Amino acid sequence: MTNHTASPIPMVDLTAQYPLIRAEIEKGLHAALDDAKFILGPNVQAFEKASAEYLGVAHAVGCASGTDALHLALRAAGVGPGDEVITTPFSFIATAEAICYVGATPKFVDIDPATFNIDPAAVAEAITDRTRAIMPVHLFGQPADLPALSKLADKHNLTLVEDCAQSFGASIDQQMTGSIGALGAFSFFPSKNLGGYGDGGLVTTNDDVLATELNVLRNHGSRERYHHQCIGLNSRLDELQAVILQAKLPHIDSFNDGRRRVAHHYTAALSELPGFTPPYEDGIGRHVYHQYTVLCDEPEQRHEVMDRLKAADIASAVYYPIPLHQQEAFAHTHPPTLPIAESIAKRCFSLPMYPELSLTDADRVIAAIAHSVRA
Ligand SMILES: *Cc1c(COP(=O)(O)O)cnc(C)c1O
Repeated sequence: MTNHTASPIPMVDLTAQYPLIRAEIEKGLHAALDDAKFILGPNVQAFEKASAEYLGVAHAVGCASGTDALHLALRAAGVGPGDEVITTPFSFIATAEAICYVGATPKFVDIDPATFNIDPAAVAEAITDRTRAIMPVHLFGQPADLPALSKLADKHNLTLVEDCAQSFGASIDQQMTGSIGALGAFSFFPSKNLGGYGDGGLVTTNDDVLATELNVLRNHGSRERYHHQCIGLNSRLDELQAVILQAKLPHIDSFNDGRRRVAHHYTAALSELPGFTPPYEDGIGRHVYHQYTVLCDEPEQRHEVMDRLKAADIASAVYYPIPLHQQEAFAHTHPPTLPIAESIAKRCFSLPMYPELSLTDADRVIAAIAHSVRA
């Protein structure tokens, strides 16, 4: 195909995926509309069962968002006022917000410079007698070092809560993220690896008691209608979103393979360019590339390359420009200086990444980056 006027390349293109699943989604939505069981109906139940099976966990409890999934997980684990939760400063704010929602305090520790995930050695140093939980994020789809973190959690009797918002389908030694810690929290925000067409979330656990607690908490603290044993939330997975997620779930491995194919193509080319470090490929588990994030040697390079991409009609973005410990919202927690997170936040940028991105378009991205090197 000859393409004289190259079209823009976005960060994410949800329209590219829809034709593949349109028939199934339309059929499911029509049936759900006819059925009219809109709150915790059969599609939510079926999706919870199918996702638990896929993830290899005993229980998967749907909820309204990934943020709520983290919040519910911490509530179910009994984390509350006075408690400290050790987490990463290099994440979306929801990770740390959830800790504050339950009245606990986020303790930010520095990250591993290769994977950008929380550094278990830094976690070990930060444990105090107020620490109740450790909340790693599988950032950009790269599994965090759960073997090391599980060991620490066991030794100090802490709850390990995995933030899996970016890691649906990522695994460590054949075990899915979200099935290794005491609890896992997933997001179905549209741009996530498994995305709905609106907000949605899921909490996973192998613990029957925690699962019961999660079911009660997401539904106004109620097990039996109009009997409320505690103050819960209104946080249920929407029935129509469950239809969409069910249609997409059988494709998740192929979606993730598509992301990995683009990533390997980018990495092969970027490895030849001076000044850029592609994502670390030899991590502890299977990376599912929610984002493809490159590190520049120098902060100034990032501006140059992002300008060059923009001039070529190619999107790029910085996840995340300000680490959480430097956000005004957490100033009251008196966080320490975290040099690795701060340095990476100044030098990282992410490239367009979605399963259907063509290698021809990936070549255009690479060419624009190479152009900025030569300029
Ligand atoms: C997206 C995201 C969340 C929040 O998920 P929502 O569904 O948007 O509430 C939490 N943590 C991380 C790391 C995320 O990327």
